[in-house]
Order: sequence, then structure tokens, then C-alpha cells
Amino acid sequence: MVKIYLKKGREESLRRFHPWVFSGAIAQINGSPAEGDVVSVYASDGSFLAIGHYQIGSIAVRVLSFEFENLPSDFWKVMITKALEVRKACGFVSAPDSDCYRLVHGEGDNLPGLIIDYYNGVCVLQAHSAGMFRAKKQICEALCQVYGPSLKAVYDKSSGTAPFKAGLDLIDGYLYKADGFSAEEEVVTEGGHKFFVNWSEGQKTGFFLDQRVNRALVEKYASGRRVLNLFCYTGGFSVYALGGGAVHVDSVDSSAKAMSMVDKNVALNGFAPEMHTSYCADAIEFLKKAPEDAYDLMIVDPPAFAKHRGALSNALRAYQRLNASAIAKVAPGGFIFTFSCSQAVDKEAFALTVFSAAAQTGRKVRILARLTQPSDHPVSIYHPEGEYLKGLLLYVE
Ligand code: SAH
Repeated sequence: MVKIYLKKGREESLRRFHPWVFSGAIAQINGSPAEGDVVSVYASDGSFLAIGHYQIGSIAVRVLSFEFENLPSDFWKVMITKALEVRKACGFVSAPDSDCYRLVHGEGDNLPGLIIDYYNGVCVLQAHSAGMFRAKKQICEALCQVYGPSLKAVYDKSSGTAPFKAGLDLIDGYLYKADGFSAEEEVVTEGGHKFFVNWSEGQKTGFFLDQRVNRALVEKYASGRRVLNLFCYTGGFSVYALGGGAVHVDSVDSSAKAMSMVDKNVALNGFAPEMHTSYCADAIEFLKKAPEDAYDLMIVDPPAFAKHRGALSNALRAYQRLNASAIAKVAPGGFIFTFSCSQAVDKEAFALTVFSAAAQTGRKVRILARLTQPSDHPVSIYHPEGEYLKGLLLYVE
């Protein structure tokens, strides 16, 4: 195995279980590792620190273990079993009103670079690192062992996320299919509501499981309200709002594919078509043109405006404009559920941006709740960067 030695003093963060080795911390690489190789990392005094996946880039090693000097043969099975134990403990597995959850959340499950979402027996895997991409067959075998015959399929959705350049076989597809399995989409249940999830055609792994708790909160606040769901994707918040007794929901997304799923999901849950209207449109323009006081509850859940730190100041300005527009338009006594899923925007920066947006409108605004990601998206305490979803529930006088 290739050995990597760190510069003096640069071992501290690994000793505190931070799961990344930055390229600038490396003094010497003994050998020439390929992207995705398992390498071992040592302090400048030669003491063992960790093993992990090597990759060219600013994060040179993503740690798999601080204990083992070699990957044990049952490593993937043990790690996936541990991840499943946490979901069981949190009530996601065999829940009466839900059959989907995030099984593996990267660093939050001590598996940096790996995402696995579970949709009613189908696991959708997304590798964000070269090492996880190369390990996908072993990961699939471990999923088969852990779930046994109840596993319907494992689908690899890494083509958009694995870091390889041209030359590698980056084609999405099934790593495993149980005999007789032929579905291209699955109906999942979340919070007692049903949703079509299409992992091959949909965005990310097919559904945004990270909003489940916030959707339930929308359901609680929606009764009697006229709801606007901006950046609605397949209508998760819309269905919950209708379930909570909203008088009408308008859903807006710029993706035509997503909008066709919203209509299917509204119908699947038995809501009358006249209670809901779909708009395939730019959400920012839609909001600009919307009349004042037409909505008493808004959901503002845009895609990550800051994909990296360099885009931060432009992103903050965009969040401010969008939120100012929502705060200006919502009816008196209205609620706004506003979110940012940009990892580069921390919760203080987001709150400050929404504060500036409120000040810009001159309206009286209160924060009723601070929102985040659910417990199937855990955050390693040693890797606070893993807390990426931030939200505020606002009350506008
Ligand atoms: N709230 C959703 C997830 C939103 S993800 C849920 O609960 O499932 C962000 C969505 O924004 C994506 O569906 C994407 O298609 C959409 N989007 C991106 N840019 C947009 C724009 N300018 N106007 C409208 N929708 C946009």
C-alpha cells in the first residue's frame, strides 16, 4: 500500500477524526497511487494515522478508518450494518408511514464520498469520490448481504458525481437486480404520503429525502392557507401542504420532467386536480410577477446557489434578492419556509442574508424555527461541514 507522510504539525486534525487530508499537508508520497487507491497516512514522526481513498485534488485522502492499517475483508458489510443500525434506532426502518430513507450520508456515516438512498427496497448509490466509485461492486455485495432477499435492486447513479474525467466508464446502471425486478421507478411512502421516485431520470438519486421533517412541518402549518411551492421538484412539499388542508397549492419548477411528476404525485395521493396548479417556469421570475398577498404560505427551496466557496458572495446576493421578493409578497400573517442547501453557506451567513432581505422590505419578520436536515443525514461532530441544509421558518406580519 502507498504510504503518505504528513508535514510536521499537520496530523492534528486527523487525530481529532477530521476525515480529510488536504494536499497541502502532505510532505511525501512513497509510491505513485492511482486515483481511488487505498493509501495509508502517517504523521511526520512515522506514527500511523489513518487509511483512506486517494484522489488528485485539494482533498488528497478521504479517510475510511483511523484504526485499521489494512481494510478488513468485511469492511463494507460492517460499515453498512452500522449505518442501518442508526436508521433503525431513529425509526426509519419498518416505519408504518415511511419506506424510504438515506442509508449512507458520506462523512456523517464515516464513509466520505458515498451516498446511498433507500427507496422501498431499491438502493440508489452515488459515488462522489474515485475511491467509492471503484469500490461500488463491493458496496453492492455488502448491501445484498445486509438486506438479504428483501433487496430489489442496487442502481449506480454516479455519472454526474464521480470525479473521473474522460476515459472511464461513467454510465449509470444496475449493479444488482433481484429476479423478476423490472421497475424503472418505485412508489415510496414518506410521512404517510406517496411519491413516484424515478432514480434513472430524476435529479440526484431521484428524490430529496433531506426535506422530510420540514415537509411534515409544512403539513402542520398549511391548514386553510394558499400555498406557493417554489423550486418544487416532484412536489414533495406540495403534497404535504395539501395533506395538511391547504386551500390551494401553486407549484413552480423550471424542469418540465419534474413538473410532470408533480401532477402524477398530486393525483397519486387522491387530491382533486383543482386544488393544485403546476407552473413550469423560472421561480424567480414567477415570484416577481406574482401579485402581493396572493399566498399565505411559501416554500423557497432553491438549488445550491454556491457550489463552491468562490461563488459565495454572488450566491448570498441571490439568496437575499429571492428572500426579499418572497417576504415582500407574502400575505400579512404569512409563513415562509426558506432554505439553502449550499454547503459553502453556513447557517449564520444564511440567517444574516435573510435578515438583510427582511430589512430591505421593511416588513416585521419573526423567526419561528430554525430548520435543518433529518437524522438519516447525520453530521460527524468532527466534520461540521456536513451540515449543509439550513432553513428558517419565518412569520411575516
Ligand atoms: N423542494 C424540492 C427540492 C428542490 S431541488 C423537494 O422537496 O423535492 C431544486 C429544484 O430547483 C430542482 O427541481 C430544479 O429543477 C429547480 N430549479 C433550478 N433552478 C430553477 C429556477 N431558476 N426556477 C425554477 N426552478 C429551478
